[in-house]
Amino acid sequence: MSNVLLIEDDAAIRTSLTRGLRDRGHAVSSASAALDGLRLAVEERPDLIVLDLGLPDMDGLDLLRMLRAVSRIPVIVATARDGEAEMVTLLDAGADDYIIKPFSSTQLDARIRAVLRRAGESRADSSVTVGGLRVDPRTREATLDGVTLDLSPKEFDLLHYLAARPGEVITKRELLTHVWQIPYGGADKTVDVHLSWLRRKLGETSSDPRYLQTVRGVGIRLAAPA
Ligand code: CA
Repeated sequence: MSNVLLIEDDAAIRTSLTRGLRDRGHAVSSASAALDGLRLAVEERPDLIVLDLGLPDMDGLDLLRMLRAVSRIPVIVATARDGEAEMVTLLDAGADDYIIKPFSSTQLDARIRAVLRRAGESRADSSVTVGGLRVDPRTREATLDGVTLDLSPKEFDLLHYLAARPGEVITKRELLTHVWQIPYGGADKTVDVHLSWLRRKLGETSSDPRYLQTVRGVGIRLAAPA
């Protein structure tokens, strides 16, 4: 099951796609305007966003660029415009795929699964380098400035999840869902405790952070030290 955010101003399309995607096992939240959609994208951290290009308050392409400035969540653009130049612009702006209106929820579901599969594969397989930190999920080895870190399996998973999204603010809720596979409830303390262990192994503290930067009230971000 995936969490899909649908940004679409047409109420009839929104209702029918929401129903169709839910029937196919997705959890769906929706917004009818661009700024609402952006807020939900940041707050709820969906697995994927379906973005209608023609929105009342902002051009969908501008919204896509704003999203890409803060997040790498996969985006499928839904558009009535069909043209090669348009598609190239969309993909350049960071869309993962596009679908031409009108389309059925069955077609959209197939696109969603393909995009999530690709995103999952590229994240799961490739090693990540952020500053002096290197994380290799195939060998499950992490090194800092060339020195191997002695991490527990959970610490490794946590580090890899954060390092695969450098610069992105990740909420504790998202970490519980994806690193601990606890989709609902669960104690925030679990994340805090593992983060403090991970910090110690990276040779930093919360008061003097290097790679692991707390964003108060929101979550945690992994980025190369300035
Ligand atoms: Ca529209």
